Amino acid sequence: MRPSAAKKFWIETWGCQMNELDTQRMAGQLMQSGMLPTRDVQDADVILLNSCSVREKAENKVFSQLGRYRRFKSDNPDLVIGLCGCVAQQVGETALDRNPDLDFVLGPARVGELGRILDRRRSGERVVATGFPEERHFDIDTISRAGSYKGMVTVIEGCDKNCTFCIVPLTRGPERCRPLEEIVIEVEHLVDYGFLEIELLGQTVNHWRQPGGQWDFADLLDRVARIHGVERLRFVTSYPRDFTPRMVEQFARHPNICPYLHLPVQSGSDRVLKRMGRGYTVGEFGDLVEQLRKARPALALSTDLIVGFPGETEADFQDTVALVEDVGFASIFAFKYSPRPGTAAVHLPDPIDDGTASRRLQELLELQVRIQRNLNEQLVGSEMEVLVTGWAEATQLQSGRTACHRIVHFPAKPTAQPLGSMAPVVIEKANPHSLLARLQ
Ligand code: SF4
Repeated sequence: MRPSAAKKFWIETWGCQMNELDTQRMAGQLMQSGMLPTRDVQDADVILLNSCSVREKAENKVFSQLGRYRRFKSDNPDLVIGLCGCVAQQVGETALDRNPDLDFVLGPARVGELGRILDRRRSGERVVATGFPEERHFDIDTISRAGSYKGMVTVIEGCDKNCTFCIVPLTRGPERCRPLEEIVIEVEHLVDYGFLEIELLGQTVNHWRQPGGQWDFADLLDRVARIHGVERLRFVTSYPRDFTPRMVEQFARHPNICPYLHLPVQSGSDRVLKRMGRGYTVGEFGDLVEQLRKARPALALSTDLIVGFPGETEADFQDTVALVEDVGFASIFAFKYSPRPGTAAVHLPDPIDDGTASRRLQELLELQVRIQRNLNEQLVGSEMEVLVTGWAEATQLQSGRTACHRIVHFPAKPTAQPLGSMAPVVIEKANPHSLLARLQ
């Protein structure tokens, strides 16, 4: 018999920061209804799988977890399991048909309805809540920020681009921007709460526009960077084509805008970029990088890359290698092309065999390790501020992120630094994926 106590929930999250924030929104709603989070999934009364469908692998993973968790129903027949996130939006009702132990399906645009959906489930209904309602609610008072050291704020949802490989427009729907006043109130609230770092989120964050108004992302950046107490400001994900000279100016003007930018290029070949429908050339991307580096010389750039896109020749791939070498990214997120149902690229001819794609990916990753080691070694001896986000008992090391988004480990002794605070450190050693430091 399970002891009667507060009901518990467990949320497993895959994918991007938007999903992370949706998890915080769902956790907040559950906590407001009197439930508590648990660290032991077997102890949960509600299990939510907040899924990502950007790649097939992530999608398969969510269904294998579902298979695992449904066995817990034999110990706890009241256990409720919900499929949330982008896979939920994509598969909808078929997920319920195929998985008799699944209780509901909740798409990302309907996250705010979780409480009502659980009530309906308790009265016996198996609910499918997907699609994109006209009215969207960003209820900032039902977000659980516990355990988070940066305040994430959605500024734009969905995507109106049509990159041929991408499923996001289908799973997150058309673009919707939040009004500037609403964003400012949320940021001020987070700063009052004690967050030093604010991250503005959107699938194409720099395409933000004031609904019905003239302001664009340059104005938003300027306004948020001026809020007293915002020590660090980040934004993700920027679309290269949407960067304007005014945005670059703001980047140069406000030192609290972090010198780090995630700027997905996807390929170093114009031919492939065209097939991907990205709307810019490698030359234009290079010009933008140059302007950004002029604005912030210490800028660290990261990017997304797809290898093995249909029709990618060896010469195209070598163009990508050359671009990665030229730009010197501080980190890359490189993947083999994964065909997604409903996207235009699945109909493109000339698929690349898996062996070739794997070899190209390996080559790119090995090159990137060398680049990262070089870039990180140049930081040895420099003084940096780290936002402290964790510590490991086994090693007695604390960890955190620099403004340029690098991971730093440093000894917790003689004084452990509070989580969520800024710690001044001196970099002593560089690894390709992290830095070792001592407290100043
Ligand atoms: S900009 Fe392209 S890759 Fe990014 S979410 Fe939109 S469609 Fe997907």
